[in-house]
Amino acid sequence: MQDQTICVSPPAISEDGYVSLTTPVHRASTIAFPDVASYTNRAERGPDGYSYGLGGTPTTKQLEATISALEEANGTLLLASGQAAIMLVFLSVLKPGDTILIPDCAYPPVRSFCKSFLAERGIGHRVYNPDWSAAEIGDLMDATVKLLWVETPGSTTMEMVDVAALVAIAHAKGVLVGCDNTWATPLNYKPLAHGVDFVVEALTKYAGGHSDVLMGSVSLRDDGWYRTLRATMGMMGLGVSPDDCVLVLRGLETMPLRLRHAEKTALDFARRIAEIISPQLVLHPALPHSPSHALWARDFAGASGVFSIAIPEKSEPAVIEQINGAKTFSIGASWGGTHSLLAPMSVASDRSFPKPEHGGTILRISIGLEDPVDLWADIGAIIKAI
Ligand SMILES: *Cc1c(COP(=O)(O)O)cnc(C)c1O
Repeated sequence: MQDQTICVSPPAISEDGYVSLTTPVHRASTIAFPDVASYTNRAERGPDGYSYGLGGTPTTKQLEATISALEEANGTLLLASGQAAIMLVFLSVLKPGDTILIPDCAYPPVRSFCKSFLAERGIGHRVYNPDWSAAEIGDLMDATVKLLWVETPGSTTMEMVDVAALVAIAHAKGVLVGCDNTWATPLNYKPLAHGVDFVVEALTKYAGGHSDVLMGSVSLRDDGWYRTLRATMGMMGLGVSPDDCVLVLRGLETMPLRLRHAEKTALDFARRIAEIISPQLVLHPALPHSPSHALWARDFAGASGVFSIAIPEKSEPAVIEQINGAKTFSIGASWGGTHSLLAPMSVASDRSFPKPEHGGTILRISIGLEDPVDLWADIGAIIKAI
């Protein structure tokens, strides 16, 4: 073989005796075939066969299989972000003339997508109040409704819904149910085991866990829908980088320990804050006073490290001064990483069923892995300003 060819196609080496505990990064656009017939008939390899890099490499498949095992799913699809994972479900299920039901506490870009993108394409949406009973939410399910979207607990304000009751009503009316499970992670809640059809995780949060990778997953049990979603991804040219998959696989190795630590510190802080200010101002479904507590205790194996404080309007300037002065917390969006975060949010203008207690700033807190003593020094100063 000539030097120039050796440069392009180096000699094969032995992997005998090489056993690593890490997942190798397999990168590929081209998948090579042994002969013309296998290339011509590559579609026969099915949605999980290797035929083009966009459909995944063994690294991608490793992450998909790990998430499927955690979700008790038959299949998982990986997208470039949590938001993209939600959009894959919406765009695969909904057709012009259909309607989707979304909760008032949905991750805000979900509402924007319904209002600005789906509406222009003849797909309707209705917003339900997560405080309504399952029967009241069921009353919105007319013949046009194809998908019920659930986020439990909801973004920032933490309302929970009775998933099992909603699934029973929805399925009786032929409505599919999708659940954004990002707060709980599959360690604390497995929506598919409660009858949900599609579960989405923003892996960007606890699974990635280090504020340096964006990814989302959709997991499901039904083979027909799995094939439909795969086909949508192929037609839209959607896929993820194997390098990013390795970062998420690494994050998953420590996720149970990180999550338990964050849960413990966050719950301790939430209890202390509730004692010092009013319990009504602390939004955390695991606190006994929370209207969501009964559902959380019934369905969830634990909590994560994210909760919120409703700041009374009169205290806002003083609280903002203390947030600016925080020494250990950083200010920013996203959560679930090793660094603790403060995110002052304003939800009222975005809500169809505004609550008086959510009228001012809501401070979302994500507990990371710093020493609780340093974290409490920041929180204590903020609480004093309320
Ligand atoms: C962050 C988040 C998302 C979106 O995840 P990205 O990866 O940032 O797109 C979706 N749902 C919930 C509940 C989230 O918190």
